[in-house]
Amino acid sequence: AKHAGKNAVRAFHPAMGSQTTERMDLERDLRGALVREELTLHYQPVFSGLTGRLVGFEALARWNHPVQGLLPPGKFISVAEESGLIVPLGAWVLQEACRQAAAWRREEAFTVSVNVSPLQFEQPDFIETVQQAVIRSGLDPQRLVLELTESVVLRNPQRAIAQMTHLRMLGIKVALDDFGTGQSSLSLLRTLPIDILKIDRSFVQDETGNLEAAQVMVDVIITMAHRFRMHVVAEGVETREQLSLLKTLGCDSVQGFLLARPVPASEAEKFL
Ligand code: C2E
Ligand code: CA
Ligand code: CA
Ligand code: CA
Repeated sequence: AKHAGKNAVRAFHPAMGSQTTERMDLERDLRGALVREELTLHYQPVFSGLTGRLVGFEALARWNHPVQGLLPPGKFISVAEESGLIVPLGAWVLQEACRQAAAWRREEAFTVSVNVSPLQFEQPDFIETVQQAVIRSGLDPQRLVLELTESVVLRNPQRAIAQMTHLRMLGIKVALDDFGTGQSSLSLLRTLPIDILKIDRSFVQDETGNLEAAQVMVDVIITMAHRFRMHVVAEGVETREQLSLLKTLGCDSVQGFLLARPVPASEAEKFL
């Protein structure tokens, strides 16, 4: 009812009307995609800032749409969130990432990171879903990282903290994703039971053009995270300059197009 006025305007605007239909089509297709197994995962390698060796992969969802081709998450994750489809979709991502990581063999251990949406995290049986994925795959829970954003935490901090603590008691690692983009306060960060801080791409890439200020920010974030005994991952590394700066500042892990793009499992395997 709140948006009735807006919708009334929309009804007279053919372009907007078709946009809504497009979204409804996408939702219907996505529902079928889960059944038809059109979803797939790409894996982006993550490397040690110190040694340059592979330390893990981030699993990133892709949708092999029968007509539109391979769709990035930007095209369907919001539809999945708004329709609630993110819950079964997210459960599938968890299972598939754990299964794949357990199947890959390597002497040196490596992690697999899975993105978790707020709605998914709020499900009463979320922990159970995670546990099931771990048990079914046989993956060592220490090798699973769940990436959460601030928005997950801010909705209900107390409950989020309790749930994060529970996950860590199971041996699973918790990462705070996109750090620096929201309004997270230092005091919030202090109270969060997290293992890993992921510095958002916007800091690494410095859109402002003010490299010096960006450097100070990244330096402060890394120092602070280390004082809280957190591991720091920088995402979106695209240039040699960014990489060498992050190494100098003591960033634990690095991820970005300079080092490797997200690739299908068959290609990711070559990084092992
Ligand atoms: P994110 O968690 O911040 O993931 C990193 C995104 O940055 C990925 O985009 C990756 O391809 C891209 N990226 C990596 N290195 C670089 C770089 O050097 N430069 C640039 N410009 N981009 C880089 P992608 O795969 O399109 O995913 C976008 C977002 O969709 C993710 O952002 C994440 O929030 C969401 N997402 C992806 N998979 C899932 C999923 O399975 N579940 C949920 N809930 N969200 C997902
Ligand atoms: Ca992520
Ligand atoms: Ca990000
Ligand atoms: Ca994100």
